[in-house]
Amino acid sequence: MTIPPGSTVGILGGGQLGRMLAIAAANLGYRTHIYAPGTSGPAMEVAARWTHGHYGDADAVRAFANQVDVITYEFENVDVSGIAGLPGVHPNARALEVAQDRVTEKSFVEALGGRPAPFWPVDSLADLAEGLRIVGAPAILKTRRMGYDGKGQARILDPERAAAAWAAVGEAPSVLEAMVGFEAEFSILLARGLEGEIAVWDAATNEHEDGILARSTVPPGGIVARQAAAATDQARRIADALGYVGVLACEFFAAPDGPVFNEMAPRVHNSGHWTIEGAVTSQFENHIRAICGLPLGSTALVGRGAEMRNLIGTQADRWAEILRDDRAHLHLYGKSGARPGRKMGHVTRVL
Ligand code: AMP
Repeated sequence: MTIPPGSTVGILGGGQLGRMLAIAAANLGYRTHIYAPGTSGPAMEVAARWTHGHYGDADAVRAFANQVDVITYEFENVDVSGIAGLPGVHPNARALEVAQDRVTEKSFVEALGGRPAPFWPVDSLADLAEGLRIVGAPAILKTRRMGYDGKGQARILDPERAAAAWAAVGEAPSVLEAMVGFEAEFSILLARGLEGEIAVWDAATNEHEDGILARSTVPPGGIVARQAAAATDQARRIADALGYVGVLACEFFAAPDGPVFNEMAPRVHNSGHWTIEGAVTSQFENHIRAICGLPLGSTALVGRGAEMRNLIGTQADRWAEILRDDRAHLHLYGKSGARPGRKMGHVTRVL
C-alpha cells in the first residue's frame, strides 16, 4: 500500500537517526511524529510532533499508532510486544526480534547459510567454561541484548579470566564468540521495498576507535572490495527471509578466508551517513521511500567516493575549522553536553 506524501510517518526514537529520517521525510512532503522516552532529543527540532512515552507502554504506543500512517524506528531496543500486533510497522516485529538477541541473530544467519563467528550461548559461569573449550580463546563475551558501541562486552584472552568476564557483563545472558582475526571491518547497507525489490549501496569500510565508529569510506578497496559481493549475498538473504521493508545494515569482518557476519541493525545506520551527499539517494530517503511504498532511488555514488567521520564528544567543537574546508558537509545533531563517547555530529567529504 502506498502512503502518499502529506501523510504522517511515526518514528520510535528521537535521536540523530530520527532527526535525519525526519529531514528526509520532510523533503518528500511527509510530516513526522516522534515517540520517545525522553522529553526532547535531536529529532525534536525537525519533527511536527513529539510524544513522550515509554516503549513498553502498549496503550500509549497504540494511541500513537492511531495518529500516524506508518511506523518505523531508529532504535532497535524498542519493546517488541508494544508493536507486535500493530499494522504498518516497518521493519516488521520479526526483524526486531532477531536483531535484539545476539544468539537468535547468529542462529538465524547461520540457518540461512551465512557465516557468523563460532559462538556459544552463555547463561552461567559453567556455560562460559564449556564455551571456552568449544570456541577457544581469545574470545569475546557479549550480552545477548541491549549491547551497542562495544558496551556490554568483555574480551577473554586467558580462560582463567572467565569469572572476571562473567562479572564484567553483569552475569547477564550472553554469547561467547571467537575473536576473528580480521583485516578490515565493513558494512553492507541495503534498502528493501514493499514488493521485495532491493537496492544496495557501496560497501563501507569502517574504522572504530574505543569501540565506536570513527570513519567510514567508500568505495571499498582491497579485501573489502573482494568480499563485498559475498557479504551482500548474506545481507540479501537476511532481508528476504525476514520479508524486510526499509534499510537494513549488516556489519562484517573481512577475515582472510571470507566475510564473517558480526551483527545487523534493522534500521538506518551510522556507517551509511555518507550516503546523504555521497550517493544519489541517501539511506534516510530510501528508508522513507521503502516504508511508504514508493519506488526506491538509485544507490549509485555521485562522485568517486566519500569519507564520513564521526564527531565524538568535544570533536564537534571544531565546527568552525571543519567549515573552512569548503568541501566538508558538516552535520551537527543539536545535542547539548559533549560527553565523552557521545556522537555529536559527523562530517562527510565527497571525493
Ligand atoms: P559489536 O558491538 O559486536 O559490533 O563490537 C564492537 C567492536 O568490537 C567491533 O566493531 C569489532 O571491532 C570488535 N569485535 C566485536 N566482535 C568481535 C569478534 N568476534 N572478533 C574480533 N573483534 C570483534
